[in-house]
Amino acid sequence: MQSYAFFEKQFVPLAEAKIGVMTHALHYGTALFEGIRGNWNPDHEQIYLFRAKEHYERLAKGCHLMHINLSYSADELCRITVDLVEKCDFKEDIYIRPLAYKSSQSLGVRLHNLDDDVLVFVIPWGPYLDMDKARCSVSSWRRPADNVIPPQAKITGLYVNNALAKTEAISNGFDEAIMLAPDGHVSEGSGENIFLVIEGKIVTPASYNNILMGITRDTVIKLARQELGLEIVERPVDRSELYSADECFLTGTAAHITPVAEIDHRLIAGGEIGEITAKLQSLYSRVIRGSEPRYMNWCTPAYKKMPAG
Ligand code: PMP
Repeated sequence: MQSYAFFEKQFVPLAEAKIGVMTHALHYGTALFEGIRGNWNPDHEQIYLFRAKEHYERLAKGCHLMHINLSYSADELCRITVDLVEKCDFKEDIYIRPLAYKSSQSLGVRLHNLDDDVLVFVIPWGPYLDMDKARCSVSSWRRPADNVIPPQAKITGLYVNNALAKTEAISNGFDEAIMLAPDGHVSEGSGENIFLVIEGKIVTPASYNNILMGITRDTVIKLARQELGLEIVERPVDRSELYSADECFLTGTAAHITPVAEIDHRLIAGGEIGEITAKLQSLYSRVIRGSEPRYMNWCTPAYKKMPAG
C-alpha cells in the first residue's frame, strides 16, 4: 500500500511528483482543486468513490472560469481516479485530491498565455474535523463577493480567506470558523457548508450567499427531503439565527456531517447532537459506504476484484 499520483500524464509514487519553483500556480494561486472521498466498506472489501463525477464536473466549470484547459472529460478523470485508487490499494478511508493548475514556469500575473496541467493524488485520511461535535465561532473574516474572487469555484488562491478564518478560530480555542457574506448574512464554514434546523425545517444559505455549492450539501438536501420527508429552505440566514437554531451541522466531503454543539459560547441543541442531525449522519454514512442500494448510483467501486462469495 502506497500513495500514488497521476502526474504529468503518468502514475508515479506520490513522493516523486514534484513541481518546479517557478510554477505559476505556486506564486499566484492560479489553480483549482477538488476533494473526493473514497470510503472503505470492510464487508464489501471495497472502496466507493462518492459522487466523483459531480466533483469533476465542478472542477471543469471552475477551469472554464479560470481559463484552464482541462484536457480530460469528467468521465476520463473518473477512470484515471479509479485506476489510481486501485494502484494504491488502501483498505481504509481515503481522500483524493485533484488539482488543475497553471503549470508554466513563468512569472507575471495573468491567466492567458500559460500552459495548464492536472494532477490527482490519493492519501489515507479519516474525518477532517476530528471531534464528534464542533465548537464554532463567527469569523471576523468575511467571504469575498462573487466579483472579488468567486466562492463558487475552488480556486486555490481563494483559500487564503478560509485559512485566515480557520486559524483565527483555532487560535481563539474553537474548532471551526463560520464566515459571513459581505452583506453580513451567514455564508459557510472554512471548508464546509452550514445547515440549521429551525422548527423542524432544514434551513441553509442559498447559492447567492457567497457559498461553494457543496456536493455534500446537495446530498444532505436530497436525503433530508427524500428519506426524512423534511422541508428544505434555502435562504439568507441572519447571524443571530445561528444562536437560536434548534440544531446546527456542517457538511463537506472531508468533514462529512459534523454536528455543531456551540457557536460563540452559546450552546446549540443543549450542546448535544440533535435528533435530525443524528438521523442524517447515520443515513449519510451508510450511503457513502455503498450500504444503501437506492443510492448506489452515487458510489463508484474502485476495486475490480470482489471477494470470493
Ligand atoms: N465550502 C467550502 C469553502 C469548502 O471548501 C467545501 C469543501 N469542498 C465545502 C463548502 C463543502 O463542499 P463539498 O461538500 O462539495 O465538499
